[in-house]
Amino acid sequence: MDKQAILAQMTQIEDQIGNLYKELGGLKEQIVQMLEENTRLELENQAKRERLDSIQTNHENETTPSDLSSAEVSGEGHDNLARLYNEGFHICNVHYGSMRGNGDCLFCLSFLSKTSQEEK
Ligand SMILES: [Zn+2]
Repeated sequence: MDKQAILAQMTQIEDQIGNLYKELGGLKEQIVQMLEENTRLELENQAKRERLDSIQTNHENETTPSDLSSAEVSGEGHDNLARLYNEGFHICNVHYGSMRGNGDCLFCLSFLSKTSQEEK
C-alpha cells in the first residue's frame, strides 16, 4: 500500500469533516436563532393577548374590578411562561426570548414568582 496515498486521503477526509463540522455549526446557529425568534414572538403574542383581554374585560364592565377573568388570564399566562422557561428559554426582560445555558436564571425565576403571585 502507498503510505503517502493513505496519508493524503486521510488529510482529505479530515478537511471534509472540518467543513461538515463548520456547516453543522452554522445550521445549529440558524436553528437557535429560529427558536429564539419563535419564543420572542410567542412572548409578544401572549402579552398582546393579555392586554387585549384586559381591555375587553374593562370595557365589558367598567365599574367592577376584573378579578376573576384577569386572574384566569394571568394564570394561563404564567403556565405559558413556565413552559417556555422549562423548554430552556429566557422569559426575563434581561435576556428576553434567548436560549438559556445550563442552570437557572435568577431574573426569570423572580419574574415567574411575580406572575404566580399576581395569580392569587
Ligand atoms: Zn432569564
